[in-house]
Amino acid sequence: MSNRPHAPPPHIIGLDGREVDLLHWMYSRPDIKQIRGNPEKVIAAIDEYHDKHNKLMNIGDVKGPTMLDIIAQRKPSLMIELGGYVGYSALLFGNALKAHGGKLLSIEVNPEMAAVANQLVELAGLREHVQIMVGASNEVLEELVREKKQIKEIELIFLDHWQKLYLPDLWLLEELGVLVPGKTMLVADNVIMPGAPDYLEWVKATPEEKKKLLEKADVGGRRPKPELIYETIVPEFDTDFGKDGLAITKVL
Ligand code: SAM
Repeated sequence: MSNRPHAPPPHIIGLDGREVDLLHWMYSRPDIKQIRGNPEKVIAAIDEYHDKHNKLMNIGDVKGPTMLDIIAQRKPSLMIELGGYVGYSALLFGNALKAHGGKLLSIEVNPEMAAVANQLVELAGLREHVQIMVGASNEVLEELVREKKQIKEIELIFLDHWQKLYLPDLWLLEELGVLVPGKTMLVADNVIMPGAPDYLEWVKATPEEKKKLLEKADVGGRRPKPELIYETIVPEFDTDFGKDGLAITKVL
């Protein structure tokens, strides 16, 4: 039997140990004392690890600035992230949210990744502005909205977990009634590469087009709200992994 009987299935992430290696590398740096408590330095060190050692699935320094502009403009009191990985985007967003006293709730299904992210959040001194929750996005969202009633409306949400889950999770948010016209913004990463065609089709469609799509769609028990009106733009970027885009959607 494997000595890791509880390890996650490989589709969640190709676990080859690089994320834990990042922590060892970070804490063995001679400048660790100067890095501690400084989010920009922790982020720069993760960029250095990505450039010189192993590639990480971080939002990176090409798409990151667009998210920082959105946070600076909208100043959400609570931002949600689906898919935290090692916490790179959580550090970037948490640091930006700190400027106006906002918070980030980052949902990560893999406890190993969440542990790495938590440690880096601690190192950066962003504990008060970033909370990492372990669990599957749909389960955590349902719990926070239905059971704990902790979230009543979504100001800004960043979808960066698994492209196949973007649309079912958007349908869940529609069903939960937390998408508020004139208030909510959704940003989905990697919509060109690897791509999220069904999600893009939905957020670009009119209510009439969405009703037609639903005639053929398998909604898997969800109750989408096709009457919501979305406005979506997809800026494109040249990243380390090729051309990619962010789908930025306003609920009108
Ligand atoms: N947002 C991170 C950043 O830019 O630094 C990168 C996230 S990485 C592309 C995707 C992450 O989503 C992985 O850590 C994976 O374990 C997680 N994930 C996959 N399915 C998930 C789910 N259903 N709920 C929450 N997290 C999930």
